[in-house]
Amino acid sequence: MAFRLTSAPFVRPRNLGFLPSLCAIWSGTRSRNLSTDYSVAQSIYNTNHDEIEEPLKTQFFLDNKFVDSKSSTWNKVLDPATNNVVTLVPDCTNAELVAAVDSAEQAFKSWRRTTVLTRQQIMFNFVQLIRRDWDRLAASIVVEQGKTFADARGDVLRGLQVAETACGVTSQLTGELLEVSTDMETRNYREPLGVVAAICPFNFPAMIPLWCLPPAIITGNTIVMKPSEKDPGAAMILAELAKEAGVPDGVFNIVHGTRDSVDFILDEPRIKAISFVGSDAAGGYIYSRGCANGKRVQANLGAKNHAILLPDASKTHALNAVAGAAFGAAGQRCMAVSVLVTVGSTDGWIPDLISMAQKLVVTGGFEPDADLGPVITPQSRERIENLIQSAADEGATVDLDGRGYRPEKFPNGNFVGPTIITGVKPGMKAYETEIFGPVLVVVSVDSLDEAIKLVNSNRYGNGVALFTQSGSAAAKFQREIDAGQVGINVPIPVPLPMFSFTGNKGSFLGDLNFYGKSGLEFYTRPKTVTSLWRSADAAEAEKASVNMPTQS
Ligand code: NAD
Repeated sequence: MAFRLTSAPFVRPRNLGFLPSLCAIWSGTRSRNLSTDYSVAQSIYNTNHDEIEEPLKTQFFLDNKFVDSKSSTWNKVLDPATNNVVTLVPDCTNAELVAAVDSAEQAFKSWRRTTVLTRQQIMFNFVQLIRRDWDRLAASIVVEQGKTFADARGDVLRGLQVAETACGVTSQLTGELLEVSTDMETRNYREPLGVVAAICPFNFPAMIPLWCLPPAIITGNTIVMKPSEKDPGAAMILAELAKEAGVPDGVFNIVHGTRDSVDFILDEPRIKAISFVGSDAAGGYIYSRGCANGKRVQANLGAKNHAILLPDASKTHALNAVAGAAFGAAGQRCMAVSVLVTVGSTDGWIPDLISMAQKLVVTGGFEPDADLGPVITPQSRERIENLIQSAADEGATVDLDGRGYRPEKFPNGNFVGPTIITGVKPGMKAYETEIFGPVLVVVSVDSLDEAIKLVNSNRYGNGVALFTQSGSAAAKFQREIDAGQVGINVPIPVPLPMFSFTGNKGSFLGDLNFYGKSGLEFYTRPKTVTSLWRSADAAEAEKASVNMPTQS
């Protein structure tokens, strides 16, 4: 079946209509004048994909200042819709990396002694400022990451919710106390670790920095963050907002770079813990080297999330949910549904799913009717297209083929249209590999038991969803399925931050998950203090103090 999508004419997004027409890309504005004038940045940002005449360099963030890097190695950040250069990001020099840790180490001395109520007040401010600059953050994500504006706002929201939940630290961090013997009590409470680090992926430029920053600093740590070199803009805006919120100098520093910067973080003894989100290859390496160096590491990795259709499911709801979860964000979510498992007669629903997918509009993220934008790089598009071809080569059928799609308005972008491949079997490359694009592979089985076996045999264990109207089937599924996040009629069951982001098997390395109670535990360690204050001593002291001296 041929794949056709329409490109819409450019219209300023409805919810960006109030913005000034004089728009400068955030990073450019930042380099020109942001170190001194934050108010300018708050009101001016880009809301289109126009070419930037002189792309400026992204700075790093040290001691609450934006600083020009002295690096000789720079990475281009490209707008995925056009491949125009947006900004240049340095591989920070060793001296700059050391300076970031020096600053964080120095800041820790006073930040850890700042009362939790003061830290909470700063977090309240931070939350307000993210809300104020929500559209600006989202616009930066559209330009650097390629998401649609609405989806980019969701990226910010899911991070914002972590910051909001972190404000409840005052009731989440209370310790325990027990009198363990006469006049002797043991109290157990949690202390911050010190300097911690976050290494972030490209696909959620606001959410994942916000998975780390709020829980890390509200518990009294200081943090050095390395955003993805592909889209650091949202993290830089967050730095600016953190400063405005009252986060003291050095509590939050940002460094840039690729492998060398990561190696520095892994080997720097003053960094006590690392939060990593990204690919299996980088994550496996970071987890083992970080742990070998005695650090606490949490690493969220890749995924292959299955959605299972039972014949008794509500068909319209299920197909809508699957289409959104498979193709939204151009499939570049670790919780995207990338495998559809049809049970029994539900394989007959595929033509309807194809019709739904064909209606999705694939174009630049600022276009008002955009459903999905481009993938991150030309290399990523090529990799995705090769994986689609591999499925055809291995005997599957490409029923809807999004390869080669070019929206009229964005002929140079990294677009791949929604793709649906049926007749896929375990062992095929397209089944075994995380494609990370708008590609849904369909495996057909005869029973729920067979579907459960398929999911449980997969090496990944991030998310899974079952669509059914049967409570018994749902209960059996929930009991027997081996995945961290289970959705019943919910396609992307990512828990809100009062819970933790759970994942298992090959999708997670570590013991403590991101955010929620687990996140607070990750960034703190317990201390027990056992003290003896003898009543007898108090009585003696009282006696001694109330009697008038009788000695002559
Ligand atoms: P990536 O691994 O390429 O990059 C992530 C970070 O690691 C970046 O900061 C990058 O600079 C660094 N890095 C990359 N290669 C490295 C190497 N060889 N050595 C040291 N550091 C390295 O990942 P990505 O492409 O940015 O993100 C997409 C991946 O992230 C997907 O696999 C996706 O499933 C995964 N992801 C997982 C979750 C989750 O919660 N499980 C969430 C989001 C993304």
